[in-house]
Amino acid sequence: MSCPFMESCPAYASMVAGRSDSHLAWAFCRTIYRDCSRYKTLMAGEAVPADMMPTGELGSARVRKRAKTSR
Ligand code: SF4
Repeated sequence: MSCPFMESCPAYASMVAGRSDSHLAWAFCRTIYRDCSRYKTLMAGEAVPADMMPTGELGSARVRKRAKTSR
């Protein structure tokens, strides 16, 4: 089962567009999305940092750029 936020998620868009971290999209977004830091933050009703990766790592410039253009 896939994450219900895939269509609107800038991290997903960034990961599938990139080569180095596309495996994270398959691991998290299409399988273990309940373990994704972005998913858990959204489900907690909290604001998701624009540059957060599924692993919880912050500072992804590519995800931040996608977040800006997807609004
Ligand atoms: S990065 Fe997280 S919130 Fe975004 S689509 Fe993937 S699993 Fe869902």
